[in-house]
Amino acid sequence: MRRCTACFRFHPGRPTFCSYCGRSFDLRICNRGHENPRAAQFCAACGSADLSTPGPPASLLHRLSGAVLYLFVVFILSVVALSMTLSALHSIDGEALSGPLVALVLMLGVLYWTTTLLPGPIKRLGAKAGRALWGSMRKKKGRHD
Ligand SMILES: [Zn+2]
Ligand SMILES: [Zn+2]
Repeated sequence: MRRCTACFRFHPGRPTFCSYCGRSFDLRICNRGHENPRAAQFCAACGSADLSTPGPPASLLHRLSGAVLYLFVVFILSVVALSMTLSALHSIDGEALSGPLVALVLMLGVLYWTTTLLPGPIKRLGAKAGRALWGSMRKKKGRHD
């Protein structure tokens, strides 16, 4: 998955150009398809001056939110795997899950903070997912109490 640094939209796979704003990602591409670094003024392979406009360099926050999103998914998966293992062993207790849950809430906070700088649709999706997750967590907790 790629995210355009100019219009902040996500793209599945590894496309060469953003399909929304037409910019190339971290490279300048000439009209024959050669890839050049973003600082290039002419194509190193064919000398063409007709190079694509790349999106702006990713800001620290942009990278951070990408990393947090990735960590978040990994973390959710491991918490789900952990709770599935625990329920398979018929030995669920709140103590064992409280550590990961605290970390999860912290991570949600960071995720929320970084996504406040994203455009509306992603932000709304994130908020919706967060609420659904929180709801199901509370429900689960209620059941075990
Ligand atoms: Zn774009
Ligand atoms: Zn070229």
